[in-house]
Amino acid sequence: MLNLVLFGPPGAGKGTQSQKLIAQYNLVHLSTGDLLRAQIAQGTELGLRAKKLMDEGLLVPDEVVIGMIDHALKNNKQAAGFIFDGFPRTVPQAESLDQLLSIHDTGVSCMVALEVAEEELVKRLLERGKTSGRPDDQDETKIRKRVTVYNTETAQVAGYYAQQGKFHSLNGIGAIEDIYGQICAILDKHQPATAQDSRQATDEVKA
Ligand code: AMP
Repeated sequence: MLNLVLFGPPGAGKGTQSQKLIAQYNLVHLSTGDLLRAQIAQGTELGLRAKKLMDEGLLVPDEVVIGMIDHALKNNKQAAGFIFDGFPRTVPQAESLDQLLSIHDTGVSCMVALEVAEEELVKRLLERGKTSGRPDDQDETKIRKRVTVYNTETAQVAGYYAQQGKFHSLNGIGAIEDIYGQICAILDKHQPATAQDSRQATDEVKA
């Protein structure tokens, strides 16, 4: 299995790159932000509790997001692999992900972090907020809070994967296609040759 942790602050381009990667590599996209917003849309109790924290730019408790990932892994037993987007955001979440994946006889293949400076993130998220309908994208104070939470609580997750030799960092400012190509180059080193062959074959058909 190919299991990618796509990492970076809010607005770094994780969602955009995920969409391209799932199509190319036949992976299941697991975004805890999307899963939480689905709970909010359904009006569940979990969604209502999460919404208060999300609107403030704060993290939802670890056990909530770990439970959602556990559920999603069980529901996708046939998957060729996963892109974890916005998860793990704390070291306990990263430890739980390792445990959950080991139950399914697999593990994290690599982490790719998209690095983008705060001013660019604020600009991108305010722009996204004009169409995303997300309250947390429409208020500069909340956006900066999310970036601070990333820097103080989430950034240390990179160290967790660096210790395992799985951490890769990329400049997240540039053309979407260029960044995508760089992520593919990293993934191609990690995935089984058969899947790599299939990606190259697809590229040849496209060309
Ligand atoms: P995102 O869509 O990844 O930007 O996430 C939006 C919001 O959902 C975050 O600001 C958090 O409040 C919450 N959230 C998403 N993923 C997680 C996670 N792994 N751990 C804690 N909170 C999360």
